[in-house]
Amino acid sequence: MSSKLLRQIPKTDVILSREALKAAQERYPYAFVKATVQACLDELRRKALEDSIDSIPGLAEIEETVLRWLEEGHIHHLKRVINATGVVLHTNLGRAPLGEAAAAHVAALSRGYCNLEYDLEKGRRGSRYDHVEKLLCELTGAEAAMVVNNNAGAVFLMLNTLARGKKVAVSRGELVEIGGSFRVPEIMYESGAEMVEIGCTNKTHVRDYERAMDELGAEVLLKVYTSNFVISGFTESVSAGELAQIAHKRGGIVLHDQGSGFLFPPEAMGLHAGSVVWTSLREGADVVSFSGDKLLGSAQCGVILGKKEYVERIKKNQLTRMLRIDKLSLAALEIALQYCRDPKLAREKIPALAMLSKTEEACRETAERLRWLIAERAPDCEVRVVPVKDEAGGGSMAGVLLDGAAVAVQIPGLAPEKAEALLHGMSVPVIARVSRDGLLFSARTLFEEELEEVAEAVRTLYVSAAGRRV
Ligand SMILES: *Cc1c(COP(=O)(O)O)cnc(C)c1O
Repeated sequence: MSSKLLRQIPKTDVILSREALKAAQERYPYAFVKATVQACLDELRRKALEDSIDSIPGLAEIEETVLRWLEEGHIHHLKRVINATGVVLHTNLGRAPLGEAAAAHVAALSRGYCNLEYDLEKGRRGSRYDHVEKLLCELTGAEAAMVVNNNAGAVFLMLNTLARGKKVAVSRGELVEIGGSFRVPEIMYESGAEMVEIGCTNKTHVRDYERAMDELGAEVLLKVYTSNFVISGFTESVSAGELAQIAHKRGGIVLHDQGSGFLFPPEAMGLHAGSVVWTSLREGADVVSFSGDKLLGSAQCGVILGKKEYVERIKKNQLTRMLRIDKLSLAALEIALQYCRDPKLAREKIPALAMLSKTEEACRETAERLRWLIAERAPDCEVRVVPVKDEAGGGSMAGVLLDGAAVAVQIPGLAPEKAEALLHGMSVPVIARVSRDGLLFSARTLFEEELEEVAEAVRTLYVSAAGRRV
């Protein structure tokens, strides 16, 4: 059977010479169009060999697939995947997805020139920091603000500018490691600051900070958000506000690596966890930093907020140039900040916030729709909607579990672990989880328009598992 099908697969040149694909060669490089056609024909070959198709689609249908793949950047190494893990800010999957308006603004700016460093009013060189500074100050009450490449960069620049050659006290309970390559002690060392560890893993007191300044020569107090772990039990830590009182009385300053946070109280989104990035600033911290692609739901960047004199010094640091933000991230950030003026709008328009605030009920409704789409395509699979605990992820809201729902699938003749791995090889890879209920697709992180794609992916597995025909 398969050899007959294989012989029916058209030649690459036949597809390439079709009118629509000749037109496509005007827009895309020839090599890319050719590679996409080959990838499309390879997939047909694979399906024919697996016996998972009955016939080879016609030339028009193949052409349509190729055009879609071209549009989607299908054969690229860096490509879209479907996140069915229920982890909203999945660090391995690119953290926050951008919303419509942000993506459109990025696309529009990327195609031409923009006033990145041009002051249109004065007709001369401007600063890339101007575009969002006012908005950030308005939203947070900060005196000054700037944005750099990412939060690790922001923390490094705060320390390098304001604490180089000085002793910086930090609690032993806050010496965090994030994603293996950001470790507070090492960042501190590289920045030229001298770390003074104080307190214990579970408890650090006001008197520890006082002693660090009075007896150990610390001039800067650093607070670090413990983003990816929780210490519970017999614990104590000192708030940024208290640190400010201790430091300011002694002529020192407080730096706060907030890691992540919302720009408005999480209650405005129906959440009862997660911090607000400006709290410690209002309590008296001198400079605060956090990620743009965590709970702000925007592009990768690191926001620095604080007293004008300090932020201005950071802007002037030579190293800031090395970690400067690019125009595309800046474009996305401006849109997110505009939405954040109205929490209701932010929750609606910023996908990460919409996902985080998605209620259990809404997750269940999405899961029901997916269950139906799968059941329709893969009749003898066991498909159920099950309750799950989702996570914010991305080193934010550590220890907080979000009640959600997932579709659990058992495909006859295919172990869930095997199925999970096979999903990575799909035309749009699907990243799922495995539990004792089977293969799990969490509803929280799925976009409505992806439900059909997930169902199709399951159908492909189902069909090939039993050598069934479509
Ligand atoms: C996430 C995080 C960082 C690193 O931020 P990136 O934007 O990933 O560079 C630094 N510190 C804390 C506390 C974090 O949570």
